[in-house]
This record gives sequence, C-alpha cells and structure tokens, in this order.
Amino acid sequence: MKFDVISIFPDFFSSITGSGLLKRALAEGKVEIRIHDLRGFTDDRHRTVDDRPFGGGPGMVFKPEPIFRAVEAIRAAAGEDAFPVILLSPQGSLLTQRRVEELARQRQIILICGRYEGVDERVAEYLATDELSIGDYVLSGGELAAAVVMECVTRLVPGVLGNAESAEQDSFASRWANAEEPHGERGLLDCPHYTRPADFRGIKVPEVLLSGHHEAVHRWRRQRSLEKTLHRRPELIERFPLSRHDREWLEGIQRATGRAAPR
Ligand code: SAM
Repeated sequence: MKFDVISIFPDFFSSITGSGLLKRALAEGKVEIRIHDLRGFTDDRHRTVDDRPFGGGPGMVFKPEPIFRAVEAIRAAAGEDAFPVILLSPQGSLLTQRRVEELARQRQIILICGRYEGVDERVAEYLATDELSIGDYVLSGGELAAAVVMECVTRLVPGVLGNAESAEQDSFASRWANAEEPHGERGLLDCPHYTRPADFRGIKVPEVLLSGHHEAVHRWRRQRSLEKTLHRRPELIERFPLSRHDREWLEGIQRATGRAAPR
C-alpha cells in the first residue's frame, strides 16, 4: 500500500510516522508514505498555492494548478492512474469502516489536504475520484484527516496487525456484512474487554469471562455487543441482520427496560 499525501505542511506527518503502528508498518515495508510539498508544484518565485476567492468573501482558496500538477506527477511516476485520488473535505462522504475496508484493497491512494477556505472546486469535480470527510466538524486543514485515513487503512493491510490484535473483532467490522446489501453500513459495536486483575478495588470482572466456558463467553460477548449497540447506536442495530437468538435477547431487554426492540 502506497500513500501519496499532498500538503503544504509536510513536517506535520513526522509525528504520526514516528511511533506505533504506522512506524512499524513502514519499517516492515508493509506501507509506504510519500509526502509531497504542494509548494514544490508551483511555478512562481513566491511558490504561491492560494489566491483570493472569485466573487469576494473572506479567506483564501487553494489554486487548482499546483494540485493538478502534483497528482499528474504522482500518476506519471506510478505509470498508471487507476487509483483513488481523495480530496479530504468536510463536504465529502463520511469515512466509515466499510469505506476503510474498500480502501485497504487498493495498491495506492493519493490524499489531498486542503487549508484555508478550501480547494478550488475544479479539483473536486475534475481531478479527485472521491471526497472524504472524517466527521461533521471543520478542521483547519486536511492533514489530520489524511493521518486518520492512513492509520485506519494501514491496520487493515494484510500482515500489519499481529495475532494479538484483531481487526475482525472490532466495532463496525464487516464480518457482519450481508450478501444482500454488501455496501451497506453494517456492524455492531465491540463487546467490553477486561484484563487482570480480576478484582480491581472491589470491581470484579464478569464471572463468565473467568469460567473457561467458551460457548458461554461467546454468547455473553454477543449479547453485550447487541446491548451496547442498541443503547449507543440504535441506527446500526436497525440495519443489522439479527438472528433469532439476537431478536429474542433484544426483546428480553425491551421487556426489562421498556425500550423498543428492533425488528
Ligand atoms: N470552507 C470549507 C467548508 O466549510 O466546507 C472548510 C475548509 S477547512 C477550514 C480547510 C480544509 O480542512 C479543507 O479543505 C479540508 O481539506 C480539511 N478539512 C476540514 N474539516 C475536515 C473534515 N471534517 N474531514 C476532512 N477534511 C477536513
């Protein structure tokens, strides 16, 4: 997996590539991250990347030419152009785990980081293949958003997570995917996790987890996942393909709490 990031703040990325999962994945050659300074694709003495907005108004807008040149140079170096060119934008489609899984199947991804008022709309219309938002809030630049994309995609690149870490058990994971709606947003929130000590200041780990009874542990985890999802993210459970056992369990919760159980 190769990430090509276009930014006016290339130094920003040293903080995220210098520790943890990304550092390890880079060292092992599982991913490659190349940061391209947008100013390197300007053609004036002042290395200008932005200009005032047509029609007036506050702030500055990233000019299209340096961004087009940067993407064209990356494509030319790769010898192909059939990979995603993602413009990070609060107006883009929301980044979800399903989207992350799709991106993890790519060989190369270009990430364009905006700043100021944003990026000339022709980049979104004629250059980017996707616009992605990491949430309904506004950051001052796309660098943090690009870092989020690289971090969550990298952990799904085969071989990056060790045996001790499993992405399949995570919240939102598509182990729950339904063949009838393969692109739908599926998944439950993960169950609670505990580790030693079994008794911390009198707060005890649920007995079943110490029982060594695998089936009971599995059932407990499934029920906690359903329960957490029902209370915190009911819209996820509404779209989830519930089994008969799931439904019975949720109806039990409904009887106990007076909450509506999903169908
Ligand atoms: N005027 C723009 C708007 O209201 O849609 C906001 C521009 S924002 C201050 C500057 C840059 O930060 C954007 O071009 C984008 O690259 C990045 N950005 C801000 N919020 C983001 C988000 N939620 N997801 C992804 N990128 C974001």
